[in-house]
Parts: sequence; structure tokens; C-alpha cells
Amino acid sequence: MAATILDGNKIRDEIQSELLQQIIELKRAGITPGLAAVLVGENPASQIYVRSKVKTCEALGLYSEKIERSKDSTTGELLELVNDLNRNDAIDGILVQLPLPPQVDTKRVLMAVDPAKDVDGFHPVNVGNLVAGRTGFVPCTPAGILEILKRSKIPLKGARAVVIGRSDIVGKPVAMLLLHEHCTVTICHSRTRDLPGVAREGDILVAAMGKPAFVTADFIKPGATVIDVGINRLTTEEEVRKIFHDPIGPLATLQKRGSVLVGDVQPEDARAIAGAFTPVPGGVGPLTIVMLMSNTIQAARMRRTVVSG
Ligand code: NAD
Repeated sequence: MAATILDGNKIRDEIQSELLQQIIELKRAGITPGLAAVLVGENPASQIYVRSKVKTCEALGLYSEKIERSKDSTTGELLELVNDLNRNDAIDGILVQLPLPPQVDTKRVLMAVDPAKDVDGFHPVNVGNLVAGRTGFVPCTPAGILEILKRSKIPLKGARAVVIGRSDIVGKPVAMLLLHEHCTVTICHSRTRDLPGVAREGDILVAAMGKPAFVTADFIKPGATVIDVGINRLTTEEEVRKIFHDPIGPLATLQKRGSVLVGDVQPEDARAIAGAFTPVPGGVGPLTIVMLMSNTIQAARMRRTVVSG
């Protein structure tokens, strides 16, 4: 039986309408949650991400500021900017879009963000809160993955979960969240021995490596829930033919749009073997921005001492 597709757009819309209710309540209490997005330099992908974050704020009626700085900015200048935002009462959440230019000390800039406004959940205080199971900000993509699993009623308690990738942004935090949900968690990485064998133990398999269609049939336990976090862009016919068993649809997309998105999981294999899986695009991706909105609302509640409803 073909796997159930876990529709990220539908879950995103569900969460968004719940957030709208919360925003209406906050506005009645005279509070408009505010997000500042800091964009340094001219990285095209970063420009797109920041634009869609600001657009979503506007759509939901949140206050937002897009702050652009030149690619020649120094660590000192960005620290000063972050400190100003920390003191700005209209701003509940601060987002520093990564990557920063190479001359900037990224860790120092992220450390300067007030943990109470750290809606990306990258500050060590929030990392510690996550590990300790205390209230804090959870990084947006891992938080979105948990929403997909829970809202799709995937059984978590006692399940074997395998996470491929150990980044601070996805792999480590999603593993910690799954652990808190009582999964038995294995974290794999580029040095893991017999990766397919370990992956095949997962009732839940999370792939977050940034390697196009790396996870193939031999990684997937029949009936498993497969969460594909990867976003990889294929731009040549050769790449498309190499990855897809049936390349006709993807080749048409390539011709029409100039590129084809593929995750870290071979989608035809996942469809045939998994019990459920998140497609790319339209799976995990849509959740990331809405979880940023959720964190910003949480920040406004906590910072402005509103008791949550
Ligand atoms: P990263 O490069 O920081 O980390 C990749 C991890 O994968 C590393 O821990 C590495 O050990 C592991 N890895 C690399 N090659 C491997 C291999 N051959 N075998 C096993 N493990 C291997 O990447 P990241 O920031 O965690 O992002 C991972 C992917 O998720 C990327 O494709 C990224 O674009 C995507 N992503 C998507 C969203 C979203 O909103 N959907 C958000 C963040 C990241």
C-alpha cells in the first residue's frame, strides 16, 4: 500500500488559524507581537527567506521590521544592532538570518540576542532549556516536525526514532524533542557505520543531511514514518535522471521551472515502502515559518507577562 502523504501545507494552515485566534486575543489586550528580521549582505536565498517571514508576519497582523545591513558589516556593528533590538520594547522576537558574512563572528552575534527574544532557539540558554525539558524557544524546523508527527497521530511513545544528521539547527534538537516524547532515539551522522542498517531500525526516520535522495529503499523499515527535512535543488537533466526511477514528471518540472526540488529521501522509494512520509516540497518546509510566528507570539506572552489562555 502506498504511504500516506503528510501534508505540511494543511498542517501549517491549521496552526496558522490557531495563531490568528491568539493574536486577536493579544491585540484585545493591547499587545501586538513584533519580530525583527536582520538580513546582512545579499545572499539570494536569505533574501527570499526573510521576505517570506516578513510577509507571513504581515498576513497574520504581527508587527515586523526588516533590518538590512551591508555585506561589509563588522561583528561590532551587528552586536550594537542586536543590543538596540534587545532594548526595543516593540520587538518580541529577533531573528538573525544565517549565514552571516565570513568576517562576522556568528556565534558572538547569536549569543548577544536576549534569550527572551531568541525566537530561533539558537542561544545556549534555550539549547539548555530544551535539553532540560524546560520552557524556552525550540528551533523552528524541529518544532514543526513534532507538530507534523503529533497532529498526524504518529505513535511516539516507545517508538524507535532514527535521526540522520547532527546539526545544531535540525538534527540535535529534533532528537531531543523525540526523546522528550519517549522515543528511543539514535542520532546518525557521516561517520556512522552501516547507516542503512541503523536507519532501518527506525519506526520514525528523520533525514536531515542535505544530500539529495541519499536515503533509499534499503534505509526504510516497511511501514515507517519518514520525515524528509532536506531541500536540494537539481538543475540538470543528468541529476534528475540519476535520482528518479521514473523521471518523466520531474523532467517536465525541470523544463518548466529550471530546477527540481528533492529532499534527502528518494521519494518513490519512500512512497512504496514507508507507512507515511513528508513530501518535498510541501512537507516540513511550510512548518518552519509558522513555528517562527508561534515562537514570536510565545515571546510576546512571556515578556509582556500575559498569562496564556
Ligand atoms: P548541516 O549541513 O548543518 O548538517 C548536515 C548533517 O548531516 C551533519 O550533521 C552531517 O554529519 C550529516 N551528514 C552529512 N553527510 C552525511 C552522510 N553522508 N551520511 C550521514 N550523515 C551525513 O545541515 P542542516 O542545517 O541540518 O540541514 C540539513 C538539510 O535540511 C539541508 O538540506 C537543509 O537545506 C534542510 N533544511 C530544511 C529546513 C526546512 O525548513 N525544511 C530547515 C533547515 C534545514
